[in-house]
Amino acid sequence: MATADVVVIGGGSAGYAAALRASELGRSVVVVERDRLGGTCLHRGCVPTKALLHVADVADVVAGAAAVGVQAGLGGIDPDAMHAFRRRIVEAKHKGLTGLVAARGITVVHGEGRLDGPGRVVVGTDVIEAKDVVLALGARTRPLPGVEFGDRVLSSDTALELAEIPDRVIVLGGGVIGVEFASLWRSLGAEVTIVEALPSLVPNEDESLRKGLERAFRKRGIGFRTGVRVTSVAPSADDVTVTLEDGSDLVADRVLVAIGRVPASDGWDEAGIALDRGFVVVDDRLRTSVPHVWAVGDLVAGPQLAHRGFQHGIFVAEQIAGLSPIPVPDHTIPRITYSHPELAAVGLTRAQAEERYGAAAIAVADYNLAGNARSEILGTSGSVRVVRRVDGPVVGVHLIGDRVGELISEAQLIVGWDAHPEDVAPFVHAHPTQSEALGEAMLALAGKPLHAL
Ligand SMILES: Cc1cc2nc3c(=O)[nH]c(=O)nc-3n(C[C@H](O)[C@H](O)[C@H](O)COP(=O)(O)OP(=O)(O)OC[C@H]3O[C@@H](n4cnc5c(N)ncnc54)[C@H](O)[C@@H]3O)c2cc1C
Repeated sequence: MATADVVVIGGGSAGYAAALRASELGRSVVVVERDRLGGTCLHRGCVPTKALLHVADVADVVAGAAAVGVQAGLGGIDPDAMHAFRRRIVEAKHKGLTGLVAARGITVVHGEGRLDGPGRVVVGTDVIEAKDVVLALGARTRPLPGVEFGDRVLSSDTALELAEIPDRVIVLGGGVIGVEFASLWRSLGAEVTIVEALPSLVPNEDESLRKGLERAFRKRGIGFRTGVRVTSVAPSADDVTVTLEDGSDLVADRVLVAIGRVPASDGWDEAGIALDRGFVVVDDRLRTSVPHVWAVGDLVAGPQLAHRGFQHGIFVAEQIAGLSPIPVPDHTIPRITYSHPELAAVGLTRAQAEERYGAAAIAVADYNLAGNARSEILGTSGSVRVVRRVDGPVVGVHLIGDRVGELISEAQLIVGWDAHPEDVAPFVHAHPTQSEALGEAMLALAGKPLHAL
């Protein structure tokens, strides 16, 4: 039997962040991981998808090179080299993470961990006792009821590994994962159709992003059917047919099911952990229903994002160490969709702000990237929307356009600090940068627009 101050079950973003911070605070830590340190984000999520989206970016730049006077031709995509690039990035980050965890003196135990009473974790025949246990089990792809994953019906895990670029592909789900894969495959030459049951793509985002993305995807030739449900998915030897509730059929080589992710909590209620629709029930300090057992990351209802997981992990480690960390509210967590064009947002959408404060108490500034020199040079269109309370702080920022993800850190500080546009407007933005567009929207809301009416 081994002992530690803290046992973390799950070595993904949330789990390893908890482990790193706890060890920094002088605690002895064991991480139990059944697969590979780094979890979904490093091996099947953020990092490999963004590596492939970078390949897509390069392909788009090469395809558009002649327009700026560079003679280059897109000879084609080499899937083997593309995947080798993806694997190289992932392996480099995995090596770095493994080294960091070892350097902090954290013990990693490989295997499936389960809770066998408070403070007692069992891994195979081994028992580890600890005062505190952190559950960081993550999430997995939600299957479409009655449809099995296979050669033609892909999850994001298998889509990432696809050896060839499909000629025709249907993406079920117009949320962030579906939109990113649709964008990727289109840039690599596929014919893509997205099916989304709700009335628009990225349905949780502000209207300016929803409409802007649909416009951009239409221009790129990405098809989409919104407000319609799937009734069946029928794979055959040659192709796969998706039938929609309006009776129409779509046929493709592959289908990606990207309709959400469910928490990996199967069976944990038997250990006394209270669950609600699979999510672990926690209080505002991430305590579960079992004393000294905490839950972090995708296991906890809210935005399923790696950086939220990091923050959860740090928070719980500090809480265990007897500090008084400030909880991070979900609404100030920035979110980015790395499609072409990118979407980046933080805080409330216009509709959410109007619902919360009343339409008369909200003011909105929209700035079109057509007025931004750097965006014009980069060949991207898009917009910035800033939502504020009248005579009050900025409560939401919504950006669309290539590379706008990099602007979200400024927007996040503004929303997180409850800054008023009048506070922000005097800060100078370097010219020509895309960040000027955010500055222009703040100037407009402060009543002194520069390059806008
Ligand atoms: C295709 C895709 C793209 C994404 N892109 C982004 C992005 O660009 N940006 C972003 O912020 N987020 C992105 N995400 C989401 C991000 O990956 C998750 O929010 C993040 O990984 C959650 O971290 P976690 O630690 O909660 O869970 P995970 O990373 O899923 O880690 C959980 C770990 O626990 C282990 N585990 C589970 N049960 C046990 C057990 N009983 N015993 C031992 N080990 C166990 C698992 O093997 C896993 O390694 C993406 C996700 C996907 C699928």
